Amino acid sequence: MKNRTEITLLFTLIFLASLLTANPVIAVEGPQIKPRLVLQITVDQLRGDLPTRYYDRLGGGGFRYLWEKGLVYTNAHHAHANTETIVGHTTLATGTHPALHGMVANVWIDRETGFTTYAIEDPDYRLISSGAGVDTSTEIDHTQRAARSEGRSPARILVSTFSDELKSYTAGQAKVFGVSVKDRGAVALAGHAGKAFWFSKANGEFVSSTYYYNQYPQWVIDWNAEKLVHRYSGKTWELLNDSNSYLFKDSDDRPWETDLAGFGRSFPHQYATSDSKYYTTQLTTSPAGDELTLEFAKTLLLQEKLGQDDITDYLSISFSSTDYVAHLFGPSSLEGEDNILRLDRLLAELFRFIDQQVGLERTLIVLSADHGGPDTPGYLKQLKIPAGYIDPGSWDKQAAIQRLKQQFKINGKLVEKYSPPYLYLNPDVLTDTSIDRQDLEDAIVRELMKFPGISLAVSSSALQAGNLPDTYLYNSVMKSFNAKRSGDIYIVFEPNWFINDFGRLKVASTHGSPWRYDTFVPIVFAGMDIKSAKVSRKIYTVDIAPTLAAYVGIKPPSASVGEILSEIFN
Ligand SMILES: [Zn+2]
Repeated sequence: MKNRTEITLLFTLIFLASLLTANPVIAVEGPQIKPRLVLQITVDQLRGDLPTRYYDRLGGGGFRYLWEKGLVYTNAHHAHANTETIVGHTTLATGTHPALHGMVANVWIDRETGFTTYAIEDPDYRLISSGAGVDTSTEIDHTQRAARSEGRSPARILVSTFSDELKSYTAGQAKVFGVSVKDRGAVALAGHAGKAFWFSKANGEFVSSTYYYNQYPQWVIDWNAEKLVHRYSGKTWELLNDSNSYLFKDSDDRPWETDLAGFGRSFPHQYATSDSKYYTTQLTTSPAGDELTLEFAKTLLLQEKLGQDDITDYLSISFSSTDYVAHLFGPSSLEGEDNILRLDRLLAELFRFIDQQVGLERTLIVLSADHGGPDTPGYLKQLKIPAGYIDPGSWDKQAAIQRLKQQFKINGKLVEKYSPPYLYLNPDVLTDTSIDRQDLEDAIVRELMKFPGISLAVSSSALQAGNLPDTYLYNSVMKSFNAKRSGDIYIVFEPNWFINDFGRLKVASTHGSPWRYDTFVPIVFAGMDIKSAKVSRKIYTVDIAPTLAAYVGIKPPSASVGEILSEIFN
């Protein structure tokens, strides 16, 4: 017979086991103490490897605070194919794919009007400031130039955002704001119910539209009147540290880098004087854009009293400089490296400020990116890695078009427009009942696949029919497919091959593909009671919004398909 101690031990074990089976799952519910502030930081084009690439060169309190104290997901990706800015920001905001949230591209052709449409343009809601619309003579962002109205709103976002849900849960009492240099970086995350501010290159001020306000709060007028924007006039963007300490110290002036209006390809980069045509554009293509964004966001937090009571508030800050710097110089450049080091310093300043004003232990921070980005073909070719620019304008398309027109007895034009990633066909051809649409699109796909550099072409008819191979590329294109908004044929180029033509500007690199360098982003949670950990299982950016909702204890956004990242409750 077993002795008494052994029997007691056995019963204790059975008792403990019964406790465990009674609570078999991780509790997915809000914390005892709710955050006073949710701070969602998006760094435009911050590819997942960039913060740790320069880890030894970082200061303290910025990325190091996040990576050392935070919950870091090291294998996080966007799941959709068209890795563009409004697409990624809206995915981060809504926890769902473009197929459902509807922002399938920065621009698309509206099937009802036939016009190329910028995702957040809205003639019903003009800008509050006059002279703040897009100056088409100097605008380098070709998506902005596509807009036919200067008005902006989130009206085309088809589903709710985390910030909408927060506002709704609190009977409108939660304060919700989005700030960015880019209008689309601010609008998506502020959602339908919040308020957004962005930087106007035309008038050099942070602006908003009548969707959000009839008139500006006084503090916005005062901030703009201070003209902080002038402080870079005639100055230079210099290296933060000794040039010998940089990874890219030997590759400053490279032939593929873009010299924007005298800003140059090497340090120090000379800002024009503030009365010059391209002055404000140069601010956005350098760390200055992020510095101004932070200054505005800090004033907003103080003036709007965010995080000061027990109702959870929300502030989204999207930093745009990393994107513009990568477009002009590439992520693997001295400019790209210095920009990350300066962003790191800004993040440290932001976290110090939040700690003073709200307390990091009462703030839930999440940082991610709207997409990653490719290296420049010039940089890759030096390393013998295949890469290059694609110019569809140089393709000999006529023979293919003639074959198709003959086969399907088409008299008029076949192709309406190519607006990456979509090829749009002439709507008259598509509505011609004598032509089988699926047959025509299949034939176009076969012709397209003969062109160099094209990895995959897939038609909307095929996507709608849904009978496609279960592969990574098809699945990511499917997640980008919205029947009412997507174009007729989706084109994917081979890895590291892309179009670098921004209309009138040739740039060093362009994102937008389903390849891993474009989908890979950091996801880090910090603050509150978050425990430091590194998690390497694959997760997706759609997981962020439902995780925020679960943490705060509110319902997920309306079309959220992401998983709750349960490590946040560990
Ligand atoms: Zn972007």
